[in-house]
Amino acid sequence: MQFTHEHREIQNTLKRFIDAEINPHVDAWEEAEMFPAHEVFKKMGQLGLLGLTKPEAYGGAGLDYSYGLAMAETLGHIDCGGVPMAIGVQTDMCTPALARFGSDELRREFLAPAIAGDQVGCIGVSEPGAGSDVAGIKSVARRDGDDYVISGQKMWITNSLQADWMCMLVNTGEGPVHKNKSLVMVPLRDGPRGRLTQGIEVARKIKKIGMNSSDTGLLYFDEVRVPQRNRIGAEGQGFIYQMQQFQEERLWAAASCLQSLDNCLSATIGWAQERRLFGGTLADQQWVQFKLAEMKTELESLRALTYRACELYVQGQDVTELASMAKLKAGRLNRLIPDGCLQFWGGMGFTWENKVSRLYRDGRLGSIGGGADEVMLGILAKTLGIAKRPQA
Ligand SMILES: Cc1cc2nc3c(=O)[nH]c(=O)nc-3n(C[C@H](O)[C@H](O)[C@H](O)COP(=O)(O)OP(=O)(O)OC[C@H]3O[C@@H](n4cnc5c(N)ncnc54)[C@H](O)[C@@H]3O)c2cc1C
Repeated sequence: MQFTHEHREIQNTLKRFIDAEINPHVDAWEEAEMFPAHEVFKKMGQLGLLGLTKPEAYGGAGLDYSYGLAMAETLGHIDCGGVPMAIGVQTDMCTPALARFGSDELRREFLAPAIAGDQVGCIGVSEPGAGSDVAGIKSVARRDGDDYVISGQKMWITNSLQADWMCMLVNTGEGPVHKNKSLVMVPLRDGPRGRLTQGIEVARKIKKIGMNSSDTGLLYFDEVRVPQRNRIGAEGQGFIYQMQQFQEERLWAAASCLQSLDNCLSATIGWAQERRLFGGTLADQQWVQFKLAEMKTELESLRALTYRACELYVQGQDVTELASMAKLKAGRLNRLIPDGCLQFWGGMGFTWENKVSRLYRDGRLGSIGGGADEVMLGILAKTLGIAKRPQA
């Protein structure tokens, strides 16, 4: 995949924004365990960065997914994982299905303000009793006149302490678990930054070992009334829409770690060349040279895999297999590279403020969130024909 002048221009705009408006505040946001999503998103919306791949009719730029990938990669210049993840939720996790299958009315109400940066969105799939097993979610939307009445719980929801709406996966019927679900747009507040909608409670802000600047919540829904017209696409198609939506989430997950891991390696090489021991520098040790060279090779193999998946996705192909491989490899390298680098920083790597130690903590989520490594392997075992498919 070749980046054009336009890709580079978008990356330059975003890099300037990160240097001026994000990185100077990251340490304070990490400390506060929250970043001001509305302010940051509004500024990004004004720069046209929140709707690169979304339809022009709703304020997007109508570009193909390679531009989304270029943006995801550049987000790796942010000095933490939490803020990029929150931005990725807005651009690649809670809006793809809405943009593709939502009615015109729904897209005007929820997608256009998300692209403009006037509203913050979140994606509600996981629950206390079901994360990997998406089909096992228990939240229910019961029909009542023209409305759905929603009850249930959603857990681990990124952005949810600030979000204006949730793209929520709920059971809307009784049938087989892959055919009884719908994605429903649920307003969480009675206006931008307003009071919580009646029946919704943010039960808990979850304290985490990493991704600290990103807020993560547990939400309860008790008889929350939403018009049925807030459903995305056809009733019963939610599981399929969500599986398709996961493709962009997984490509995004792979692309967004390329730059941050590269920065981690560069910082470590710089450190190793400076750090003096045994009459030379750390980088004079052949073991250190080989380890760093090997990790860089691993990273370039992830880049090649991710670019290939993106290329085929842009051509309209189903990239479930390659996106799952890229997500799996990204999860693995998000552990291997920060861990390998941290070792060479010695005691300095074990301190809280070290950027490599932050990536070590933040990157650990890569093998769990958005489909754990084992879930990716399960998909691959099926698509590669290793596991037997259940009889129809
Ligand atoms: C910081 C953070 C942010 C998140 N943001 C969101 C969000 O915005 N929206 C949302 O909906 N969810 C979100 N999640 C939830 C995330 O997607 C889930 O945590 C993830 O899917 C795993 O689900 P679980 O935690 O219920 O673990 P479980 O499903 O209980 O799985 C536990 C472990 O079992 C193993 N496992 C799973 N399946 C298999 C298998 N088939 N074979 C062998 N082993 C297996 C894996 O190692 C897995 O880690 C977030 C999570 C975190 C921690």
